[in-house]
Amino acid sequence: EKSGKKCIVLFYPSPGMGHLVSMVELAKRFLPYSFDLIVVIAEPPYNTGATASYVRSVAATHPSITFRRLPPVSLPFDSSPSTNHESFTFRFIHLNNPLLHQALRDISGRNNPVSALVLDFFCYESIEYATQMGIPPYIYYTSGVTSLAAFFNFPTIHRNTTASLRDIETELDIPGVPPMPASYMPTPVLDREDEAYWGFLRMSMEIPKCRGILVNTFEGLEPRALRALLEGACIPDGPTPRIYPIGPVIAADNRGGEWECLSWLDSQPGKSVVFLCFGSLGLFSAEQLKEIAIGLEGSEQRFLWVVRSPPSPDDKTAGRLSEPPEPDLDALLPKGFLERTSERGMVVKSWAPQAAILSHDSVGGFVTHCGWNSILEAICAGVPMVAWPLYAEQKLNKVFLTKEAKLAIPVSEEENGLVTAAEVEKRLRELMESEEGKGLRERTLATRDAAMAAITVGGSSLAQLTEFAESL
Ligand code: UDP
Repeated sequence: EKSGKKCIVLFYPSPGMGHLVSMVELAKRFLPYSFDLIVVIAEPPYNTGATASYVRSVAATHPSITFRRLPPVSLPFDSSPSTNHESFTFRFIHLNNPLLHQALRDISGRNNPVSALVLDFFCYESIEYATQMGIPPYIYYTSGVTSLAAFFNFPTIHRNTTASLRDIETELDIPGVPPMPASYMPTPVLDREDEAYWGFLRMSMEIPKCRGILVNTFEGLEPRALRALLEGACIPDGPTPRIYPIGPVIAADNRGGEWECLSWLDSQPGKSVVFLCFGSLGLFSAEQLKEIAIGLEGSEQRFLWVVRSPPSPDDKTAGRLSEPPEPDLDALLPKGFLERTSERGMVVKSWAPQAAILSHDSVGGFVTHCGWNSILEAICAGVPMVAWPLYAEQKLNKVFLTKEAKLAIPVSEEENGLVTAAEVEKRLRELMESEEGKGLRERTLATRDAAMAAITVGGSSLAQLTEFAESL
């Protein structure tokens, strides 16, 4: 606070509920420090309804966080040859840049100084503009430092080959990342011909120009990657920005109303239910849904399963820009499945309040697509995982979870990508009944304690956040 006036901290998330929620949760962490907190949001081309009601509820409960919406832009979506939704994200953000920069000029033209602009990592293009305006640009990286280390190494990997990563047979040995096949790099960078590949390449080269990076992780969780970053091993040809591990930043509860599945959980024994949920974008083919159902039935475990409609064949973005329709469970699941499992299982259509479910006493295991928010929510609830990565940086997260942190067991897929019913059954039994599963549970509980300690008084993440806030 300078001369009695509050300094402003601006937050700019990229589109998509996950990024918005994570950024707003981060903004809430700044409430104890006396800043004016402003979240600037682009008018999204998708998720509009959900975003609007979420923003309304935050604004109502936290009057000191203000939202500023940019005017809408129209997008030439159909002209993108890419099937990766990330290339849409990059295009969308690029089109919004002039509007964001206008908002920056408006806000900083008023009396109060802008102490920081906290950008989602997709919004890297505004680092340079903010710097020119004299506003210190920071990045909020919503995933962990293991994938951040991989992105920082990406320009080096790119220079050392002319092939697409998905065609490279050898393992990558990246500083900070457990050795893994090249095809485990984030999905949008596997194909050198894809527009998203170049977006991420530029992003990986531009992000180091920011003042510092707030990362949604904590010191005890990813020591290998954190060490590599701090030693500068991930960016060999320049300085590494200051890294602030300030997590876990998660939404404590996202139920927003009454849910039948939560009452159903109340009636189940403690730690007995496996929860299966695959992020905001995870879709399976009808064939894969049937395999999961047969595996669940064979495993004899109690379960709560979120089922979505398979991707429609004529949507080249695999349902990622529009809500898929309600699933027709009778057509999708094996005949009689719901009746036969009604005593011990429940299927929820399309969406369930995941954070509330994971922290329910009856939940003892989680089959996850390895989205970073899902991983942190499971850790904070002390729930061990089966790792079933689907898109984005999830294979990398899986390697970290299974090889490094040992908080999850992996599923193996067939050559054709299918995970069989037998594999599902085997992994569920391992998770819920085996000695290995018990070990996972104990480590997950210890990791939960470390996570909680990090964000309370005297903890490393709170100390990092305070240091960051005081540096502004
Ligand atoms: N989520 C939820 N219900 C669902 C699916 C997802 O509440 O049916 C929430 C989940 O709790 C998490 C977020 O959506 O907070 C998904 O974020 P994550 O990073 O795990 O994956 P993404 O959707 O970004 O791939």
